[in-house]
Amino acid sequence: MDFKLTEEHIMIRDAARDFARNELLPGVIERDEKQEFPSEQIKKMGELGFLGMMASPEFGGGGMDTISYILAMEEISKIDASASVVMSVNNSLVCWGIDTYGSQEQKKKYLSKLTTGEKLGAFCLSEPEAGSDATSQRTTAIDKGDHYLLNGTKNWITNGNSADYYIVIAQTDREKKHKGINAFIVEKGVEGFEIGPKEQKMGIRGSDTHSLNFNDVKVPKENRIGEDGFGFKFAMKTLSGGRIGIAAQALGIASGAYELALDYSKQRKAFGTEICNHQAIAFKLADMYTSIEASRHLVMKAAWEKDQGANYDLSGAMAKVYASKTAMDVTTEAVQVHGGNGYVKEYHVERLMRDAKITQIYEGTSEIQKIVISRGILRD
Ligand SMILES: Cc1cc2nc3c(=O)[nH]c(=O)nc-3n(C[C@H](O)[C@H](O)[C@H](O)COP(=O)(O)OP(=O)(O)OC[C@H]3O[C@@H](n4cnc5c(N)ncnc54)[C@H](O)[C@@H]3O)c2cc1C
Repeated sequence: MDFKLTEEHIMIRDAARDFARNELLPGVIERDEKQEFPSEQIKKMGELGFLGMMASPEFGGGGMDTISYILAMEEISKIDASASVVMSVNNSLVCWGIDTYGSQEQKKKYLSKLTTGEKLGAFCLSEPEAGSDATSQRTTAIDKGDHYLLNGTKNWITNGNSADYYIVIAQTDREKKHKGINAFIVEKGVEGFEIGPKEQKMGIRGSDTHSLNFNDVKVPKENRIGEDGFGFKFAMKTLSGGRIGIAAQALGIASGAYELALDYSKQRKAFGTEICNHQAIAFKLADMYTSIEASRHLVMKAAWEKDQGANYDLSGAMAKVYASKTAMDVTTEAVQVHGGNGYVKEYHVERLMRDAKITQIYEGTSEIQKIVISRGILRD
């Protein structure tokens, strides 16, 4: 057992920390208020290599391990969870998916631009009638010989308007059920592809979430990822890794709120002493720190298993369900530690509390993670 980070890991973590403090912190409150996408910051993240961290260097990626990615995700999420969801979708769903399962041509044409941030990706699985039950895909992709004809609606798509390339999951052969599902790369701007209005959200308000409509969109055959019928497996495999990224996002939101609460408790005085000297506050800090450390161990273990080539479905699900609950608990307590100041924007913790909630919902709700975990332990 070795709980120590390597020098390279520390370097990556510190670079992400500096970037978050210098580039994301200024303006984060305003972007949240105005629901403004952090375009310039995301561009810089691409230039610094934060958008294709694990992808093959041959295609512009960083060739880093999952631990490095997790460390960077935590640091970015401490400050700006809207930027980190963009980072997470691009890294763990889009780049990882194409790098692992795409053709050489797809990697050359799409991946090499996604890793550098020249182009941004989106991952489109959810539909009005297919959220947790992702097998109920209503979007169809009918085989027309040299192309597929795509029709349907996708919901809740992160980077919905800001993306350039969209991985779209659709049903090709309904009789084959989930084995008749495919995944395609669709370019923005193709005829029949419409982007719906931006969702008005509780949290991660700087990220842009849209529904998408596909009306007789022609998708070239060579844009299908993997063999015919591989789409559902592709989505599940990709999301399994994505969950580790979201768990790291939750961990970052929690640790960001904890650090703010700790600092505040050492400065704010009540009844003639700093509030951290009141045991009720000190115990809150102790609980926060303990659950954050427990989350960190789960997230790191899942990332480590992925890097070892082991199965990480169970560890990723445990990391996500636990870290996202920790994010909710810790941010709520961080607001409490701040008293009235916790309830206003300038102290950041109210935003972190709103941002935390989504980590229990997307890339598989907490209830769905518990299905994965219980099936895993009952099978063994
Ligand atoms: C801000 C945001 C960004 C998102 N980004 C993306 C994206 O980029 N790409 C994408 O494809 N999707 C995205 N999503 C969609 C997200 O993944 C889904 O919202 C999520 O999977 C839940 O699906 P649903 O909303 O249809 O809820 P439902 O599936 O309708 O679930 C409703 C409730 O029922 C529970 N439930 C459902 N089935 C069961 C069961 N079998 N047992 C116990 N409980 C159950 C759920 O846990 C939940 O509490 C995003 C969503 C949001 C809000």
